Amino acid sequence: MKYVSTRGSTPEQAFEGVLLSGLARDGGLFVPGAWPAMDPAAIASLDGLAYPQIVARVVRPFIEETLVSDDDLARITEEAYAGFRHPAIAPLRQIDADTWLLELFHGPTLAFKDFALQMLGGLFDHVLGLRGERLTIVGATSGDTGSAAIEACRDRDNLDIFMLYPEGRVSEVQRRQMTTVDAANVYNIEVRGTFDDCQDLVKAMFADDGLRDEFGLSAVNSINWARVMGQTAYYFAAAARLGAPGREFSFVVPTGNFGNVYSAYVAREMGLPVSHLVVAANRNDILYRFFDRGDMSISGVEPSLSPSMDIQVSSNFERLMFDLMDRDGTAVADAMQAFRTDGVLPDGERLSTDSRDLFSAQRLDDDETLSEIRRVHEEAGMLVDPHTAVAIGAARKSPRDGTKRVVLATAHPAKFPDAVEQATGIRPGLPPHLSDLLDRPERAVTLDNDLSAVREHVRAHATPRRKD
Ligand SMILES: *Cc1c(COP(=O)(O)O)cnc(C)c1O
Repeated sequence: MKYVSTRGSTPEQAFEGVLLSGLARDGGLFVPGAWPAMDPAAIASLDGLAYPQIVARVVRPFIEETLVSDDDLARITEEAYAGFRHPAIAPLRQIDADTWLLELFHGPTLAFKDFALQMLGGLFDHVLGLRGERLTIVGATSGDTGSAAIEACRDRDNLDIFMLYPEGRVSEVQRRQMTTVDAANVYNIEVRGTFDDCQDLVKAMFADDGLRDEFGLSAVNSINWARVMGQTAYYFAAAARLGAPGREFSFVVPTGNFGNVYSAYVAREMGLPVSHLVVAANRNDILYRFFDRGDMSISGVEPSLSPSMDIQVSSNFERLMFDLMDRDGTAVADAMQAFRTDGVLPDGERLSTDSRDLFSAQRLDDDETLSEIRRVHEEAGMLVDPHTAVAIGAARKSPRDGTKRVVLATAHPAKFPDAVEQATGIRPGLPPHLSDLLDRPERAVTLDNDLSAVREHVRAHATPRRKD
């Protein structure tokens, strides 16, 4: 498999380079040069396999066997999901006649990001071991990526990890899941700014070739292709369970950086019968405005009850744009430049119209989110987290289309206990492995939204790339 950059001026790369570098040097994101196909028989054969085996089948075409053999891949996927606390890994729960909830919160940090990141940690370890090198992971998080990445990288010999998060904009549970990890290779940086500021700081460090080369900077945000790839598997698993390839499916996905829903798009490009994808947004509704009416214009980020979706510039959207623009990297680079300068995506109406066969969007504000949590609790006796509630509400607002509909439950309710309690009066308890989280000591530094301050902190603590 060869990978190309969405901005068209980075040479093709094999999986190894894509995994280790994250972002392409031209500022673009890596995507496969062509989509591998899973034919109907291959899809049908997934039902009945254990979850790690499904992952191995789905990701196999994206990774060269010379780098990761079949045996290595079987071991890496097995280890990745061994720490999940539900025997089905990604269980489905029927919530009405044609709608299922896909529970993606049984991993170590209680959010769907564990699915890709646990595997990413294993892939990094394997590849760095082959090369005799180490890497410095630098990431920005609006909450859940941080803890999932830290859990995936902690105590691994070949990695240091620096995680930037916006001060006061992540929940206490989310923050503590990062800052209470007691591992010498984990560095938490609280930034006086927004998530987008954190993401910009990370991008600026990646653009610094000196820093990047000396410390082997690498990303685990959803800009890393391996994240997208790792998430694609649960779409196949859920659909196979519910009768694919013989049925059509729609998925409703609570969306921030557009990584999760883009993984659904990838599954469809590979042959999964997906007829409709609903992008569910909170009050930070740039994606909703784009899919609804072609308006992709930046406004400020407002804190909401679903903080992992408090994003205005959704990195992975560029990957979809690349396909919508017929894979013309120069055109994507120009459009992104204009978007950065003017705050408005040019030609948005045409791109939006072209995407509407497959995509639609819905938005829920905080009041609607709370009433959705309350309604689900009253009607089904089930507690759902605010991100999941946005998706369930979006499903209810969307017209039925005769498909089997799967709504993604992306976080455990105990990760966002304040919102759940506000809506229902019930404070969901943390599962046993995290029950003393609020008593553990925290480790983090707080820095200004200032590139040189953050860069110097990384320089002072990271380990150079080459091993002596
Ligand atoms: C990260 C996250 C999202 C948003 O996912 P994207 O891939 O960024 O679109 C939604 N819900 C939860 C709980 C998350 O952690």
